[in-house]
Amino acid sequence: MPLTYWAEHAWLGTLPQTLGSAGAGGTPVEPGVALDVSDGRITAVRTGVLTPPRGAVTLRGLTLPGLANAHSHAFHRALRSTVQVGSGTFWTWREVMYQVASRLTPDSYFALARAVYAEMALAGITAVGEFHYLHHAPGGTPYADPNAMGEALIAAAGEAGIRITLLDTAYLSSGFGEPPNEHQRRFSDGTAEAWAERASLLKEREGVRVGAAVHSVRAVPAEQLSTVAQWATGRQAPLHVHLSEQTAENDACLAAHGCTPTRLLADHGVLGPRTTGVHNTHLTDEDIALLGGTGTGTCMCPTTERDLADGIGPAAALQRAGSPLSLGSDSHAVIDLLEEARAMELDERLRSRTRGHWTAAALLRAATADGHAALGWPGAGRLEAGALADFTTIALDTVRTAGPLPRLGAETAVFAASAADVRHTVVGGRHVVRDAAHSLIPDVPRALAESIAALHG
Ligand SMILES: [Zn+2]
Repeated sequence: MPLTYWAEHAWLGTLPQTLGSAGAGGTPVEPGVALDVSDGRITAVRTGVLTPPRGAVTLRGLTLPGLANAHSHAFHRALRSTVQVGSGTFWTWREVMYQVASRLTPDSYFALARAVYAEMALAGITAVGEFHYLHHAPGGTPYADPNAMGEALIAAAGEAGIRITLLDTAYLSSGFGEPPNEHQRRFSDGTAEAWAERASLLKEREGVRVGAAVHSVRAVPAEQLSTVAQWATGRQAPLHVHLSEQTAENDACLAAHGCTPTRLLADHGVLGPRTTGVHNTHLTDEDIALLGGTGTGTCMCPTTERDLADGIGPAAALQRAGSPLSLGSDSHAVIDLLEEARAMELDERLRSRTRGHWTAAALLRAATADGHAALGWPGAGRLEAGALADFTTIALDTVRTAGPLPRLGAETAVFAASAADVRHTVVGGRHVVRDAAHSLIPDVPRALAESIAALHG
């Protein structure tokens, strides 16, 4: 049914006809924008509509394209704050993460993911890329439906009202030449061929895309990488891979193969414009040139990278080399794509001791259009006729956002607002978050508390 949303202000930053009108800084925010919606898509964007048209749904605040969370492991949400006790490294954190993973079943994972995806909707996220490797029962026995866990995640996103790209992940080995350990047996299909056979059973449907992932060069033997890459090519599907998050991975790859992880992926046909490297933290100049030259994307996860003491990836250099940027909340230490966007810039400031590496508009583009493209939703993440009707509205009257709206507007969204300021989220024309309340799941904090408590026993 046709419907009109009326935005008090809207950031139309990715509209081609307006790009450049404000120079390199981006596009000014438009006051009074009517977004006509039909069959889940935007049919018209009308500017200069200074009062709400009759029958229109009013979106008070600043409306942006929907945010894309390009890298998620939903179950890590159960670790938030509880894992902040004590010291250690990525590798000690991983042991705690495996404990939680060992307790998940299709039912308990559905309940947790439904709540986590609802938290995402409340944060303005309209699509999630779920990097999913928890495939089998403890010990590695397949469930009666071999995709019971993946289907639980798809159903959870459906109930939470957001789009999902299930990045079904090949995870076959513990290290270079090592079989999966006790915890990792749940993750493994044995071979890339068996992984492909199982992943092929997953069907795309409304709001659902199926993509592939290589967990890392640690987890897929080199001679099997091309099987995963070819599966993704055959479907024109997104292909993601954790890449050089830790120097230990680089050292082990060098010892086993005499090259960097990026070079290994390049030599086995994994890189390309449908591929996204997640983290891309510890890279050589040649790695950066390889990623940029092949058009391989980079998904930065700054809140997780700082939480896990990973280091700061060379996002600016990667983008200059030709790698499009996207953003993810990964371990969900926080779920706030606006924080991810500003953190990418602020990390670069700390490293370089200079300011202004990206405009706010460029940061928002990573959080919207380029993030959606990395997840196989090129028709989302922009407010224009023909795009998917996915958008979110940030309140401009909270303690964080009150004050003059800068001419370009995106600065308020990126450098002042947080997920707590999100007032509306619309996905495929459906008003999923209305006045900061989830319209499908009435008590999201309780859903989170109960599903997490069940895992901690
Ligand atoms: Zn990850």
